[in-house]
Amino acid sequence: MGRKPLPKMPAITATHIYDYLMCPHRVYLDEFGDKALMDEESDFQRLLWERGSTHEEEALERLGLDVCRVDLADPEERERETFRLMKKGENFIYQGGLSSGSMRGRPDLLEKTEGRSRFGSHFYVPVELKSGSAYQDEDAGTLKEHYVLQLSFYADVLEQLQGTKPENGKIIDGEFRVVPVELAPFELDYAQRLSEIRALFSGEMPSEPCIGSICGQCHWQTYCLDWAKERDDVSLVRRVSRPRKESLKKGGISTVGALADLAKKKSLPSFDRISTGALQQMVRRAVVIKQGKPVINSPVELPVVELELFFDIETEPWEDVCYLYGVVERRKDGQRFLSFFADSHADEERTWHAFWEYISGMENYHMYHYAPYERRILAQLSERYSCDPELFRTFFANSTDLYRVVERHTDWPSHSYSIKSVSKSLGFEYSEPDPGGLKAAMWYQDFAQNPETGGALKERIIQYNKEDCEAMIVLKDWLVAKSRELEPSRRKGPG
Ligand code: SF4
Repeated sequence: MGRKPLPKMPAITATHIYDYLMCPHRVYLDEFGDKALMDEESDFQRLLWERGSTHEEEALERLGLDVCRVDLADPEERERETFRLMKKGENFIYQGGLSSGSMRGRPDLLEKTEGRSRFGSHFYVPVELKSGSAYQDEDAGTLKEHYVLQLSFYADVLEQLQGTKPENGKIIDGEFRVVPVELAPFELDYAQRLSEIRALFSGEMPSEPCIGSICGQCHWQTYCLDWAKERDDVSLVRRVSRPRKESLKKGGISTVGALADLAKKKSLPSFDRISTGALQQMVRRAVVIKQGKPVINSPVELPVVELELFFDIETEPWEDVCYLYGVVERRKDGQRFLSFFADSHADEERTWHAFWEYISGMENYHMYHYAPYERRILAQLSERYSCDPELFRTFFANSTDLYRVVERHTDWPSHSYSIKSVSKSLGFEYSEPDPGGLKAAMWYQDFAQNPETGGALKERIIQYNKEDCEAMIVLKDWLVAKSRELEPSRRKGPG
Protein backbone atom coordinates (compact mmCIF):
# COMPACT_ATOMS: atom_id res chain seq x y z
CA MET A 1 0.00 0.00 0.00
CA GLY A 2 1.63 3.31 -1.04
CA ARG A 3 1.62 6.16 1.41
CA LYS A 4 2.87 9.69 1.94
CA PRO A 5 6.04 10.32 3.98
CA LEU A 6 5.18 10.16 7.65
CA PRO A 7 5.23 13.48 9.49
CA LYS A 8 6.49 12.34 12.88
CA MET A 9 7.68 9.04 14.30
CA PRO A 10 5.12 8.00 16.93
CA ALA A 11 6.28 6.74 20.33
CA ILE A 12 6.52 2.94 20.44
CA THR A 13 4.46 1.23 23.12
CA ALA A 14 4.17 -2.31 24.48
CA THR A 15 0.74 -2.49 22.80
CA HIS A 16 2.48 -1.93 19.47
CA ILE A 17 4.70 -4.95 20.17
CA TYR A 18 1.67 -7.08 21.05
CA ASP A 19 -0.35 -5.94 18.05
CA TYR A 20 2.60 -6.20 15.68
CA LEU A 21 2.89 -9.91 16.43
CA MET A 22 -0.82 -10.29 15.63
CA CYS A 23 -0.68 -8.17 12.47
CA PRO A 24 1.88 -5.49 11.49
CA HIS A 25 -0.69 -3.69 9.38
CA ARG A 26 -2.89 -3.13 12.41
CA VAL A 27 -0.05 -1.22 14.06
CA TYR A 28 0.33 0.84 10.91
CA LEU A 29 -3.40 1.57 10.59
CA ASP A 30 -3.81 2.39 14.27
CA GLU A 31 -1.17 5.09 13.89
CA PHE A 32 -1.77 6.38 10.37
CA GLY A 33 -5.14 4.99 9.20
CA ASP A 34 -8.29 7.08 8.78
CA LYS A 35 -10.13 6.52 12.09
CA ALA A 36 -13.45 7.20 10.36
CA LEU A 37 -13.01 3.87 8.52
CA MET A 38 -12.61 1.83 11.71
CA ASP A 39 -15.38 -0.58 12.73
CA GLU A 40 -17.37 0.50 15.75
CA GLU A 41 -16.45 -1.21 18.99
CA SER A 42 -18.73 -4.22 19.38
CA ASP A 43 -20.51 -5.23 22.59
CA PHE A 44 -18.21 -8.20 22.65
CA GLN A 45 -15.03 -6.10 22.47
CA ARG A 46 -16.38 -3.83 25.19
CA LEU A 47 -17.11 -6.84 27.35
CA LEU A 48 -13.63 -8.24 26.75
CA TRP A 49 -12.11 -4.97 27.88
CA GLU A 50 -14.29 -4.85 31.00
CA ARG A 51 -13.47 -8.47 31.73
CA GLY A 52 -9.74 -7.71 31.43
CA SER A 53 -10.00 -4.97 34.08
CA THR A 54 -12.11 -7.16 36.38
CA HIS A 55 -9.61 -9.96 36.00
CA GLU A 56 -6.73 -7.67 36.98
CA GLU A 57 -8.55 -6.59 40.13
CA GLU A 58 -9.37 -10.20 40.96
CA ALA A 59 -5.76 -11.27 40.45
CA LEU A 60 -4.48 -8.54 42.79
CA GLU A 61 -7.01 -9.58 45.42
CA ARG A 62 -6.43 -13.33 45.12
CA LEU A 63 -2.67 -12.96 45.33
CA GLY A 64 -3.02 -10.51 48.23
CA LEU A 65 -0.92 -7.84 46.51
CA ASP A 66 -1.01 -4.52 48.29
CA VAL A 67 -0.38 -2.22 45.35
CA CYS A 68 0.20 1.47 45.02
CA ARG A 69 -2.08 2.69 42.21
CA VAL A 70 -1.17 5.38 39.72
CA ASP A 71 -4.40 6.61 38.18
CA LEU A 72 -3.35 9.95 36.76
CA ALA A 73 -4.77 10.58 33.29
CA ASP A 74 -2.01 12.81 31.98
CA PRO A 75 0.86 10.59 30.72
CA GLU A 76 3.64 12.93 31.80
CA GLU A 77 2.24 13.37 35.31
CA ARG A 78 1.80 9.62 35.49
CA GLU A 79 5.41 9.01 34.54
CA ARG A 80 6.67 11.57 37.07
CA GLU A 81 4.57 9.99 39.82
CA THR A 82 5.74 6.49 38.90
CA PHE A 83 9.37 7.58 39.02
CA ARG A 84 8.77 9.13 42.43
CA LEU A 85 7.22 5.89 43.73
CA MET A 86 10.08 3.84 42.30
CA LYS A 87 12.61 6.06 44.01
CA LYS A 88 10.67 5.82 47.24
CA GLY A 89 10.71 2.03 46.98
CA GLU A 90 7.02 1.03 46.89
CA ASN A 91 6.67 -2.78 46.75
CA PHE A 92 4.15 -2.92 43.89
CA ILE A 93 3.22 -0.11 41.51
CA TYR A 94 0.01 -0.72 39.55
CA GLN A 95 -0.63 0.90 36.15
CA GLY A 96 2.33 3.25 36.38
CA GLY A 97 3.76 5.11 33.41
CA LEU A 98 7.24 4.67 31.93
CA SER A 99 8.96 6.45 29.09
CA SER A 100 12.41 6.75 27.63
CA GLY A 101 13.26 8.37 24.30
CA SER A 102 10.69 7.20 21.76
CA MET A 103 9.39 4.38 23.97
CA ARG A 104 6.44 4.77 26.27
CA GLY A 105 4.37 2.25 28.20
CA ARG A 106 2.05 1.44 31.04
CA PRO A 107 3.06 -1.86 32.66
CA ASP A 108 0.34 -3.62 34.65
CA LEU A 109 2.63 -4.00 37.65
CA LEU A 110 6.15 -3.08 38.69
CA GLU A 111 7.51 -5.28 41.44
CA LYS A 112 10.34 -4.16 43.73
CA THR A 113 13.33 -6.49 43.87
CA GLU A 114 16.59 -6.36 45.79
CA GLY A 115 19.67 -5.33 43.82
CA ARG A 116 21.80 -2.34 42.84
CA SER A 117 20.28 0.40 40.72
CA ARG A 118 20.07 4.17 40.41
CA PHE A 119 17.58 4.02 43.29
CA GLY A 120 20.04 2.38 45.70
CA SER A 121 19.57 -1.24 46.78
CA HIS A 122 16.39 -2.00 44.89
CA PHE A 123 15.11 -2.04 41.33
CA TYR A 124 11.90 -3.03 39.54
CA VAL A 125 10.85 -5.95 37.34
CA PRO A 126 7.81 -5.87 35.04
CA VAL A 127 4.76 -8.06 35.71
CA GLU A 128 1.93 -8.53 33.20
CA LEU A 129 -1.60 -9.52 34.26
CA LYS A 130 -3.27 -11.59 31.54
CA SER A 131 -6.69 -13.17 31.39
CA GLY A 132 -5.50 -16.00 29.09
CA SER A 133 -3.00 -18.79 29.74
CA ALA A 134 0.66 -17.73 29.82
CA TYR A 135 1.50 -20.68 27.59
CA GLN A 136 1.32 -21.23 23.87
CA ASP A 137 1.92 -24.93 24.48
CA GLU A 138 1.80 -25.83 28.13
CA ASP A 139 3.12 -29.39 27.70
CA ALA A 140 6.15 -28.09 25.83
CA GLY A 141 6.51 -25.18 28.30
CA THR A 142 6.37 -22.63 25.44
CA LEU A 143 5.24 -19.19 26.55
CA LYS A 144 3.14 -16.85 24.43
CA GLU A 145 5.56 -14.70 22.47
CA HIS A 146 3.30 -11.62 22.50
CA TYR A 147 3.12 -11.72 26.29
CA VAL A 148 6.86 -12.19 26.77
CA LEU A 149 7.94 -9.48 24.32
CA GLN A 150 5.81 -6.97 26.19
CA LEU A 151 7.87 -7.80 29.29
CA SER A 152 11.06 -7.38 27.23
CA PHE A 153 9.84 -3.95 26.16
CA TYR A 154 9.22 -2.81 29.73
CA ALA A 155 12.57 -4.28 30.84
CA ASP A 156 14.21 -2.22 28.11
CA VAL A 157 12.54 1.03 29.26
CA LEU A 158 13.20 0.19 32.92
CA GLU A 159 16.91 -0.18 32.17
CA GLN A 160 17.05 3.40 30.88
CA LEU A 161 15.24 4.69 33.97
CA GLN A 162 16.80 2.71 36.81
CA GLY A 163 20.21 1.92 35.30
CA THR A 164 19.71 -1.83 35.82
CA LYS A 165 18.14 -4.15 33.31
CA PRO A 166 15.73 -6.68 34.84
CA GLU A 167 16.77 -10.15 33.71
CA ASN A 168 13.35 -11.57 34.52
CA GLY A 169 9.72 -10.64 34.41
CA LYS A 170 6.51 -12.37 35.46
CA ILE A 171 3.16 -13.19 33.94
CA ILE A 172 0.16 -13.61 36.22
CA ASP A 173 -2.17 -15.49 33.95
CA GLY A 174 -5.87 -16.27 33.66
CA GLU A 175 -5.58 -19.10 36.14
CA PHE A 176 -3.85 -16.74 38.61
CA ARG A 177 -0.55 -18.56 38.20
CA VAL A 178 2.59 -16.51 38.69
CA VAL A 179 4.81 -17.59 35.80
CA PRO A 180 8.45 -16.38 36.00
CA VAL A 181 9.97 -15.45 32.65
CA GLU A 182 13.69 -15.34 31.87
CA LEU A 183 14.07 -12.60 29.28
CA ALA A 184 17.54 -13.30 27.81
CA PRO A 185 16.37 -16.05 25.38
CA PHE A 186 13.91 -13.55 23.82
CA GLU A 187 16.42 -10.71 23.46
CA LEU A 188 17.12 -11.15 19.72
CA ASP A 189 13.47 -11.69 18.88
CA TYR A 190 12.56 -8.52 20.79
CA ALA A 191 15.29 -6.42 19.12
CA GLN A 192 14.16 -7.64 15.70
CA ARG A 193 10.50 -6.74 16.32
CA LEU A 194 11.41 -3.35 17.70
CA SER A 195 13.49 -2.48 14.65
CA GLU A 196 10.70 -3.70 12.35
CA ILE A 197 8.20 -1.42 14.09
CA ARG A 198 10.62 1.49 13.75
CA ALA A 199 10.98 0.71 10.04
CA LEU A 200 7.19 0.55 9.71
CA PHE A 201 6.77 3.95 11.38
CA SER A 202 9.57 5.59 9.46
CA GLY A 203 8.10 4.47 6.15
CA GLU A 204 11.04 2.15 5.26
CA MET A 205 8.85 -0.93 5.55
CA PRO A 206 5.74 -1.07 3.35
CA SER A 207 2.52 -2.27 4.91
CA GLU A 208 -0.71 -3.72 3.60
CA PRO A 209 -3.45 -6.05 4.84
CA CYS A 210 -3.09 -9.81 4.88
CA ILE A 211 -6.43 -11.47 5.56
CA GLY A 212 -6.31 -14.10 8.30
CA SER A 213 -8.40 -15.50 11.13
CA ILE A 214 -7.12 -12.72 13.42
CA CYS A 215 -9.04 -10.16 11.30
CA GLY A 216 -12.26 -11.31 12.98
CA GLN A 217 -11.04 -9.63 16.19
CA CYS A 218 -9.78 -6.43 14.60
CA HIS A 219 -11.49 -3.05 14.29
CA TRP A 220 -10.13 -2.64 10.75
CA GLN A 221 -11.81 -5.78 9.46
CA THR A 222 -14.34 -4.12 7.14
CA TYR A 223 -11.74 -1.75 5.74
CA CYS A 224 -9.16 -4.51 5.11
CA LEU A 225 -11.68 -6.96 3.63
CA ASP A 226 -12.93 -4.30 1.24
CA TRP A 227 -9.35 -3.45 0.34
CA ALA A 228 -8.56 -7.13 -0.33
CA LYS A 229 -11.73 -7.78 -2.35
CA GLU A 230 -11.24 -4.69 -4.48
CA ARG A 231 -7.78 -5.94 -5.45
CA ASP A 232 -8.63 -9.65 -5.51
CA ASP A 233 -5.76 -9.86 -3.03
CA VAL A 234 -4.10 -13.25 -2.82
CA SER A 235 -4.45 -13.32 0.98
CA LEU A 236 -8.16 -14.03 0.46
CA VAL A 237 -7.04 -17.62 -0.11
CA ARG A 238 -7.00 -19.62 3.11
CA ARG A 239 -3.49 -20.40 4.40
CA VAL A 240 -1.85 -17.59 2.45
CA SER A 241 -0.09 -16.15 5.48
CA ARG A 242 1.91 -12.92 5.43
CA PRO A 243 5.28 -14.63 4.66
CA ARG A 244 3.62 -16.68 1.93
CA LYS A 245 1.91 -13.64 0.49
CA GLU A 246 5.29 -11.89 0.32
CA SER A 247 6.90 -14.88 -1.43
CA LEU A 248 4.06 -15.11 -3.93
CA LYS A 249 4.27 -11.39 -4.61
CA LYS A 250 8.01 -11.63 -5.21
CA GLY A 251 7.24 -14.33 -7.75
CA GLY A 252 4.68 -12.09 -9.50
CA ILE A 253 1.49 -13.53 -7.94
CA SER A 254 -0.56 -10.94 -6.05
CA THR A 255 -4.15 -11.85 -6.88
CA VAL A 256 -6.43 -14.82 -6.34
CA GLY A 257 -6.93 -14.89 -10.12
CA ALA A 258 -3.20 -15.11 -10.84
CA LEU A 259 -2.80 -17.87 -8.26
CA ALA A 260 -5.76 -19.79 -9.78
CA ASP A 261 -4.21 -19.43 -13.25
CA LEU A 262 -1.21 -21.44 -12.11
CA ALA A 263 -3.52 -24.48 -12.25
CA LYS A 264 -3.40 -24.22 -16.05
CA LYS A 265 0.39 -24.60 -16.14
CA LYS A 266 1.98 -27.96 -16.80
CA SER A 267 4.18 -27.57 -13.75
CA LEU A 268 4.02 -25.17 -10.84
CA PRO A 269 6.79 -22.60 -10.37
CA SER A 270 8.64 -22.52 -7.07
CA PHE A 271 8.41 -19.79 -4.45
CA ASP A 272 10.63 -19.08 -1.44
CA ARG A 273 9.56 -20.87 1.75
CA ILE A 274 6.47 -22.46 0.13
CA SER A 275 6.53 -26.24 -0.24
CA THR A 276 5.08 -27.85 -3.35
CA GLY A 277 2.29 -29.43 -1.32
CA ALA A 278 1.31 -26.08 0.25
CA LEU A 279 1.40 -24.37 -3.14
CA GLN A 280 -0.78 -27.04 -4.73
CA GLN A 281 -3.30 -26.59 -1.94
CA MET A 282 -3.32 -22.79 -2.28
CA VAL A 283 -3.73 -23.01 -6.06
CA ARG A 284 -6.63 -25.45 -5.67
CA ARG A 285 -8.28 -23.14 -3.14
CA ALA A 286 -7.82 -20.12 -5.41
CA VAL A 287 -9.57 -22.04 -8.22
CA VAL A 288 -12.42 -22.96 -5.86
CA ILE A 289 -12.85 -19.31 -4.81
CA LYS A 290 -13.09 -18.32 -8.46
CA GLN A 291 -15.63 -21.09 -9.17
CA GLY A 292 -17.64 -20.26 -6.03
CA LYS A 293 -18.46 -23.90 -5.16
CA PRO A 294 -16.91 -26.32 -2.64
CA VAL A 295 -15.17 -29.42 -3.95
CA ILE A 296 -14.17 -32.74 -2.49
CA ASN A 297 -10.73 -33.92 -3.54
CA SER A 298 -10.72 -37.44 -2.16
CA PRO A 299 -13.48 -39.69 -0.80
CA VAL A 300 -14.19 -39.85 2.91
CA GLU A 301 -15.14 -43.07 4.62
CA LEU A 302 -17.57 -42.51 7.47
CA PRO A 303 -19.05 -45.36 9.52
CA VAL A 304 -22.55 -46.62 8.81
CA VAL A 305 -24.27 -47.00 12.20
CA GLU A 306 -27.77 -47.21 13.64
CA LEU A 307 -27.38 -44.02 15.62
CA GLU A 308 -25.50 -40.84 14.80
CA LEU A 309 -24.91 -38.14 17.42
CA PHE A 310 -24.10 -34.60 16.30
CA PHE A 311 -22.59 -32.96 19.32
CA ASP A 312 -21.75 -29.37 20.25
CA ILE A 313 -21.04 -27.60 23.53
CA GLU A 314 -21.29 -23.96 24.62
CA THR A 315 -18.93 -22.37 27.09
CA GLU A 316 -18.65 -19.04 28.87
CA PRO A 317 -14.92 -18.29 28.79
CA TRP A 318 -14.76 -15.48 31.35
CA GLU A 319 -16.08 -17.59 34.21
CA ASP A 320 -14.74 -20.77 32.61
CA VAL A 321 -18.13 -22.50 32.59
CA CYS A 322 -19.39 -25.16 30.18
CA TYR A 323 -23.09 -24.44 30.29
CA LEU A 324 -24.62 -26.43 27.45
CA TYR A 325 -24.25 -29.86 25.85
CA GLY A 326 -26.39 -30.19 22.74
CA VAL A 327 -26.91 -33.39 20.75
CA VAL A 328 -28.95 -34.22 17.69
CA GLU A 329 -29.67 -37.96 17.66
CA ARG A 330 -30.28 -39.26 14.16
CA ARG A 331 -31.68 -42.70 13.37
CA LYS A 332 -33.14 -44.12 10.16
CA ASP A 333 -36.63 -43.13 11.27
CA GLY A 334 -35.88 -39.54 12.23
CA GLN A 335 -33.98 -37.22 14.49
CA ARG A 336 -34.42 -35.35 17.77
CA PHE A 337 -32.49 -32.70 19.64
CA LEU A 338 -31.55 -32.91 23.33
CA SER A 339 -29.94 -30.24 25.45
CA PHE A 340 -28.32 -30.27 28.89
CA PHE A 341 -28.30 -26.69 30.14
CA ALA A 342 -26.77 -25.24 33.32
CA ASP A 343 -29.06 -22.48 34.59
CA SER A 344 -26.22 -21.09 36.71
CA HIS A 345 -22.50 -21.55 37.13
CA ALA A 346 -23.21 -23.67 40.20
CA ASP A 347 -25.29 -25.94 37.98
CA GLU A 348 -22.31 -26.95 35.81
CA GLU A 349 -21.52 -30.13 37.74
CA ARG A 350 -25.13 -31.37 37.71
CA THR A 351 -25.33 -30.78 33.95
CA TRP A 352 -22.04 -32.62 33.40
CA HIS A 353 -23.31 -35.72 35.22
CA ALA A 354 -26.71 -35.55 33.50
CA PHE A 355 -24.98 -35.52 30.11
CA TRP A 356 -22.82 -38.58 30.90
CA GLU A 357 -25.79 -40.38 32.37
CA TYR A 358 -27.49 -39.91 29.00
CA ILE A 359 -24.41 -41.08 27.05
CA SER A 360 -24.09 -44.17 29.25
CA GLY A 361 -27.47 -45.35 27.89
CA MET A 362 -26.29 -45.16 24.25
CA GLU A 363 -25.02 -48.10 22.21
CA ASN A 364 -23.80 -48.57 18.65
CA TYR A 365 -23.43 -44.90 17.98
CA HIS A 366 -20.98 -42.69 16.16
CA MET A 367 -20.48 -39.11 17.34
CA TYR A 368 -19.64 -36.12 15.13
CA HIS A 369 -18.23 -32.82 16.35
CA TYR A 370 -16.47 -29.90 14.66
CA ALA A 371 -12.87 -28.95 15.63
CA PRO A 372 -10.94 -30.18 18.70
CA TYR A 373 -12.64 -27.81 21.15
CA GLU A 374 -15.23 -30.29 22.49
CA ARG A 375 -12.62 -32.89 23.25
CA ARG A 376 -10.31 -30.40 24.99
CA ILE A 377 -13.04 -28.91 27.18
CA LEU A 378 -14.51 -32.28 28.11
CA ALA A 379 -11.03 -33.55 29.05
CA GLN A 380 -10.59 -30.53 31.34
CA LEU A 381 -14.02 -31.05 32.88
CA SER A 382 -13.34 -34.73 33.48
CA GLU A 383 -10.50 -33.60 35.76
CA ARG A 384 -12.76 -31.09 37.51
CA TYR A 385 -15.64 -33.55 37.99
CA SER A 386 -15.61 -37.33 38.04
CA CYS A 387 -16.44 -39.32 34.93
CA ASP A 388 -16.23 -43.02 34.05
CA PRO A 389 -12.93 -43.12 32.08
CA GLU A 390 -14.18 -45.97 29.88
CA LEU A 391 -17.32 -44.05 28.97
CA PHE A 392 -15.22 -41.00 28.13
CA ARG A 393 -12.76 -43.04 26.06
CA THR A 394 -15.54 -44.77 24.11
CA PHE A 395 -17.32 -41.49 23.41
CA PHE A 396 -14.28 -40.08 21.61
CA ALA A 397 -13.12 -43.42 20.17
CA ASN A 398 -16.46 -43.57 18.32
CA SER A 399 -16.17 -40.08 16.93
CA THR A 400 -15.17 -38.03 13.90
CA ASP A 401 -13.97 -34.46 13.95
CA LEU A 402 -15.63 -33.11 10.80
CA TYR A 403 -13.29 -30.12 10.73
CA ARG A 404 -10.32 -32.46 10.19
CA VAL A 405 -12.21 -34.14 7.37
CA VAL A 406 -12.96 -30.77 5.79
CA GLU A 407 -9.32 -29.67 6.01
CA ARG A 408 -7.99 -32.94 4.57
CA HIS A 409 -10.46 -33.76 1.85
CA THR A 410 -12.15 -30.58 0.68
CA ASP A 411 -11.73 -26.97 -0.49
CA TRP A 412 -14.24 -24.16 0.06
CA PRO A 413 -14.86 -20.81 -1.62
CA SER A 414 -14.31 -18.89 1.63
CA HIS A 415 -11.39 -17.86 3.78
CA SER A 416 -12.95 -19.29 6.91
CA TYR A 417 -13.62 -23.03 7.28
CA SER A 418 -15.79 -22.60 10.38
CA ILE A 419 -18.95 -24.72 10.53
CA LYS A 420 -20.97 -21.53 9.92
CA SER A 421 -19.05 -20.64 6.80
CA VAL A 422 -18.85 -24.17 5.41
CA SER A 423 -22.54 -24.96 5.98
CA LYS A 424 -23.52 -21.58 4.49
CA SER A 425 -21.77 -22.63 1.25
CA LEU A 426 -24.09 -25.66 1.26
CA GLY A 427 -27.21 -23.52 1.65
CA PHE A 428 -27.72 -23.95 5.39
CA GLU A 429 -29.15 -20.91 7.14
CA TYR A 430 -28.91 -19.97 10.81
CA SER A 431 -31.78 -18.02 12.40
CA GLU A 432 -29.34 -15.41 13.74
CA PRO A 433 -27.78 -13.10 11.14
CA ASP A 434 -24.28 -13.32 12.63
CA PRO A 435 -24.14 -16.35 14.92
CA GLY A 436 -21.16 -17.20 17.10
CA GLY A 437 -20.17 -18.99 20.28
CA LEU A 438 -18.96 -15.78 21.94
CA LYS A 439 -22.21 -14.03 21.18
CA ALA A 440 -24.04 -16.96 22.78
CA ALA A 441 -21.71 -16.65 25.79
CA MET A 442 -22.74 -13.01 26.16
CA TRP A 443 -26.42 -14.00 26.05
CA TYR A 444 -25.67 -16.60 28.68
CA GLN A 445 -24.07 -13.98 30.93
CA ASP A 446 -27.24 -11.89 30.71
CA PHE A 447 -29.36 -14.98 31.30
CA ALA A 448 -27.32 -16.13 34.32
CA GLN A 449 -27.73 -12.73 35.96
CA ASN A 450 -31.48 -13.11 35.87
CA PRO A 451 -32.63 -16.65 34.98
CA GLU A 452 -36.26 -16.02 36.04
CA THR A 453 -36.78 -13.47 33.27
CA GLY A 454 -34.18 -14.82 30.84
CA GLY A 455 -36.29 -17.59 29.27
CA ALA A 456 -36.14 -16.06 25.78
CA LEU A 457 -32.34 -15.80 25.93
CA LYS A 458 -32.07 -19.43 27.01
CA GLU A 459 -34.19 -20.49 24.05
CA ARG A 460 -32.09 -18.41 21.70
CA ILE A 461 -28.87 -20.04 22.96
CA ILE A 462 -30.34 -23.54 22.69
CA GLN A 463 -31.59 -22.79 19.19
CA TYR A 464 -28.13 -21.58 18.17
CA ASN A 465 -26.54 -24.74 19.56
CA LYS A 466 -29.13 -26.93 17.82
CA GLU A 467 -28.44 -25.19 14.51
CA ASP A 468 -24.71 -25.88 14.86
CA CYS A 469 -25.57 -29.59 15.23
CA GLU A 470 -27.90 -29.43 12.23
CA ALA A 471 -25.22 -27.65 10.18
CA MET A 472 -22.95 -30.65 10.88
CA ILE A 473 -25.64 -32.98 9.53
CA VAL A 474 -25.81 -30.99 6.29
CA LEU A 475 -22.03 -31.14 6.00
CA LYS A 476 -21.80 -34.84 6.82
CA ASP A 477 -24.47 -35.71 4.22
CA TRP A 478 -22.69 -33.61 1.61
CA LEU A 479 -19.40 -35.38 2.35
CA VAL A 480 -21.06 -38.78 1.97
CA ALA A 481 -22.87 -37.84 -1.26
CA LYS A 482 -19.75 -36.30 -2.82
CA SER A 483 -17.62 -39.27 -1.79
CA ARG A 484 -20.08 -41.59 -3.57
CA GLU A 485 -19.82 -39.48 -6.72
CA LEU A 486 -16.04 -39.92 -6.64
CA GLU A 487 -16.15 -43.68 -6.11
CA PRO A 488 -17.17 -44.83 -9.65
CA SER A 489 -14.38 -42.80 -11.23
CA ARG A 490 -11.92 -44.26 -8.73
CA ARG A 491 -13.06 -47.79 -9.48
CA LYS A 492 -12.77 -47.20 -13.24
CA GLY A 493 -9.24 -45.87 -12.76
CA PRO A 494 -7.38 -43.54 -15.06
CA GLY A 495 -8.01 -43.63 -18.82
S1 SF4 B 1 -8.23 -6.50 9.64
FE1 SF4 B 1 -6.67 -8.07 9.51
S2 SF4 B 1 -5.21 -7.33 8.01
FE2 SF4 B 1 -6.43 -5.60 8.63
S3 SF4 B 1 -5.29 -4.65 10.25
FE3 SF4 B 1 -6.72 -6.01 11.21
S4 SF4 B 1 -5.65 -7.94 11.49
FE4 SF4 B 1 -4.48 -6.71 10.02
